[in-house]
Amino acid sequence: MGLRNGSLVCDNCRKTLFEFSNFQQALKVLDLDGSDLSRGYTYNTPTWKEIDDGENAGCNWCDFLWGDILEYRKSRLDKHLRTEDTPPEDETWKITVRFRRRKESPHNMTLHTYIGDDFFPNGYAVHTNHGMWTHWSFSRCADE
Ligand SMILES: [Zn+2]
Repeated sequence: MGLRNGSLVCDNCRKTLFEFSNFQQALKVLDLDGSDLSRGYTYNTPTWKEIDDGENAGCNWCDFLWGDILEYRKSRLDKHLRTEDTPPEDETWKITVRFRRRKESPHNMTLHTYIGDDFFPNGYAVHTNHGMWTHWSFSRCADE
């Protein structure tokens, strides 16, 4: 399974996070107090197998999920739930995606994904091209 011509994400991701109104919901958190975790876009991921397939096909978002989910499983709040095993193929996760920006540096956005009920957060700095959001790149950031 490959991606459609020029697409950066697979069909599963295009229909969820990258669907326009859903993405707007993730962006809505930008200038709000980030402590309200009910804000953002929440959805159920595709199955682990679909995420794995998407990652292999070159989907950028599946690539993030893939790494974040493994990290989440290793770092569960409840130590007894921690595992380094590969997830079952049919497992799915509830995730919330939120973009934030700091007042001190309005051109720098960060992307936060919260996974599961412990709200395991992973943050990424979003680098924009001269404030244009047409070209994005991400790097994992340590804060939060
Ligand atoms: Zn995908």
